[in-house]
Amino acid sequence: MLDLIIRNGHIADGTGNPWFFGDVGVKDGRIAAVGRVEQEARSVIDAHRQVIAPGFIDGHCHSDLMIFDHPHSEIKIRQGVTTEVVGNCGLAPAPFVKERAELL
Ligand SMILES: [Zn+2]
Repeated sequence: MLDLIIRNGHIADGTGNPWFFGDVGVKDGRIAAVGRVEQEARSVIDAHRQVIAPGFIDGHCHSDLMIFDHPHSEIKIRQGVTTEVVGNCGLAPAPFVKERAELL
């Protein structure tokens, strides 16, 4: 049994191929099936022709310090962003220096 099935979506798999209509099955946090998924799942989401896609990479953000206030980064997740490239434009808390701990 799968943990989750997202049904009836436009699947854009990130390979550059055209999207296709179908389902995505998830088990143990990983994609286990793509296409017409006939298995059962503990949870089912009807995407109702919304796009199902891999997480987006935000290649230029200034979220370096946001993670301290919002450790689950909901604002990014709700936009589909699952990876961020930080340290842009000279805004970076790293390398961490003990003398700047209070400032951070
Ligand atoms: Zn910038």
